[in-house]
Amino acid sequence: MLPPDEYARLRDLVLVRRDPAAIADYVRGIRMRMNPHPAGQMTHNVPRVNDAPLRGLQHKYDQTVLFFPSAGQTCHAYCTFCFRWPQFVGMDDLKFDARESHELAAYLKLHPEVTDVLITGGDPLIMNTRSLAAYIEPLLVPELAHIQNIRIGTKSVAYWPQRFVSDRDADDLLRLFERVVGAGKNMAIMGHYNHAVELRPDIAQQAVKRIVGTGATLRMQGPLIRHINEDPKSWAELWQTGVRLGAIPYYMFVERDTGPHAYFQLPLARAHEIFQAAYQMVSGLSRTVRGPSMSAFPGKVVIDGVATINGEKSSPCSFCRPVIRTGCASRFTPNSIPTRPGSTT
Ligand code: SF4
Repeated sequence: MLPPDEYARLRDLVLVRRDPAAIADYVRGIRMRMNPHPAGQMTHNVPRVNDAPLRGLQHKYDQTVLFFPSAGQTCHAYCTFCFRWPQFVGMDDLKFDARESHELAAYLKLHPEVTDVLITGGDPLIMNTRSLAAYIEPLLVPELAHIQNIRIGTKSVAYWPQRFVSDRDADDLLRLFERVVGAGKNMAIMGHYNHAVELRPDIAQQAVKRIVGTGATLRMQGPLIRHINEDPKSWAELWQTGVRLGAIPYYMFVERDTGPHAYFQLPLARAHEIFQAAYQMVSGLSRTVRGPSMSAFPGKVVIDGVATINGEKSSPCSFCRPVIRTGCASRFTPNSIPTRPGSTT
């Protein structure tokens, strides 16, 4: 997945020179070139209390705070297209995580505009139920009645459905979900699925039924990735199976410009075609899905059409459409979108 020159140099260092220090130095250079933490994640949206930054929290949208518990910063999968790869590569200066759970509750008490907490990683469901409960239960107190939705981002639904079915504390996890629902909040599992095959095994289907059986909701989301899920039929099967089991199709994302993204990326016009083809194969119940959606510096934008400008296909999104109208055919990357008009997803 590396460019040929980088691959050749690294191969030489590993197989011929066998110099660990030189290898480590070169690998670090490659990683830094790969745009770790796209869209200003390390430097922007970092909440502060008494002017001190809170490590492991992000507050990008008024309503939603992201929380990165330190114990959840590994994953069931190590996807080579992961946009959170700096969390996993042992470079502490690139990583954000929260060691103190009380800082989250303290921050939320000061922010009544926040309705949603997204516990993310990595994969928070790497944690055992007892550790996860220590982060979630403080959010159920009356002083945090404004928190309506507690979300958990996870790949376990696809890569370790045993987490909900047969793990030693699987039932405890379901009881935790029930306590959240019983407290009057929405327990929202944000399930990362990349392909229909992930939902074909019986245990993966059982996991969906057990999650929704607690009163929690399960939304399905994932990036469009070249070599992996370019076939619209795969998306349609995934959404249809999910809906049959009680899940909600949510997002098809555009792969972010980080990591070895040249290997995975598709033209935005092609992404739009794939989304539209899949969307047309499913009934209205699956059409809760949105996409192709790009996470960008100012927020999320949706690719909402294909325009031909000077004979070249361009994909106006809700941000760049005003620019396209004036004749600009630049290929914007998610970090180079120029302005923020009103229309966003
Ligand atoms: S499942 Fe998600 S967090 Fe885990 S490696 Fe893959 S993209 Fe990254």
